[in-house]
Amino acid sequence: MNQKTYSEFKYPMLEINLKHVYENVKYMVDLCKSQGISIAGVIKGFNAIPEVVKQFERAGCTYLATSRMNQIIKLKQCGIEKPFMMIRIPMFSEIKELVQFVAISLNSELETLNMIQKECEVQDKKHKVILMLDLGDLREGVFDEEEFIKLAEYVENHLENVELYGVGTNLGCYGSIRPTEENLGKLCSVAEIIESKINRRLEMISGGATTSLPLILDGQMPKRINNLRIGEGMLLAEDLEKFWGYDMKHMHKDTFTLKAQVVEIKRKPTHPIGEIFIDAFGNKPTYEDNGIRKRALLAVGKQDFVLHDKLIPLKQGVKIIGSSSDHLIIDIEDCDIETKLGDILDFIMYYPPMMYLSGYADIPKVFI
Ligand SMILES: *Cc1c(COP(=O)(O)O)cnc(C)c1O
Repeated sequence: MNQKTYSEFKYPMLEINLKHVYENVKYMVDLCKSQGISIAGVIKGFNAIPEVVKQFERAGCTYLATSRMNQIIKLKQCGIEKPFMMIRIPMFSEIKELVQFVAISLNSELETLNMIQKECEVQDKKHKVILMLDLGDLREGVFDEEEFIKLAEYVENHLENVELYGVGTNLGCYGSIRPTEENLGKLCSVAEIIESKINRRLEMISGGATTSLPLILDGQMPKRINNLRIGEGMLLAEDLEKFWGYDMKHMHKDTFTLKAQVVEIKRKPTHPIGEIFIDAFGNKPTYEDNGIRKRALLAVGKQDFVLHDKLIPLKQGVKIIGSSSDHLIIDIEDCDIETKLGDILDFIMYYPPMMYLSGYADIPKVFI
């Protein structure tokens, strides 16, 4: 397909409002700064699209953070200068790139830290590390407090090129544990034990991700926390409002918008006819019978966004009722404004569709 014909097939499309991304990030950077907290802007949720990353840079994020080395290498090649933070525990197979491209990484394994030291010697470089303490969410981090303190002392005393920059934790990802004054306070008190053993202050105590923002909003963040790693909370700002009940009206929600075209409009029953077996993905869904209703079919599907229930229709009255690989089915019975064949409908979204749509090369990305 040549360039010209392709540009005519522009739907489904992901529209990204760079100005609104910038304003959201700036708001969060300033809010956190007022409480003595720096932000590592987490760019993995939108596949590190360089145009968006530049807004993070411009808005004053101290670090650019991601779990994917390929994104860091790509951005280095694009000329992004901000220091990078690697927020997934590094693989043995990426230590060389880690030392070469990354300023600071989150770590929990002594053997990996030894390998980083060796690679630093080869490259004649230094590398900063944040040691991760697991406070009960049970993803990454050292679980045992004594072992954690020993690991910190080991890095401080035995690894010349690996700089113990601080400690951190992650909550609310696997175990769904809520960050609180108590668990983050625990991180701070363990940090202070380490400080007394190494006779100096740790530069960074990194207190989590978007799920830690409620403590900022409520003014309850333990004093020693001075860094957060934020993605969703300043990209979409949906989670804190929907799941946590915080008013985020000063944040733009239309940073990432999916635009898709209507290809069929029909009145149909709401309950399938015949024996219900399994759908195209091997699931056995249930269907509510609401009689005959007006529905529209859009030319976009699970291949693009994966989870239709994480999309939010912008048109008043639209209700998402289902999807297959290449179709999204919506109920338009209650719309005040008529939907016509060929219309383009807009959807904002929660984190998962942003991640899938932005990472999918076949979806055109249009910046406004
Ligand atoms: C993804 C991730 C974050 C950011 O999460 P958000 O919910 O997008 O703010 C922070 N820290 C770590 C270790 C992560 O993996």
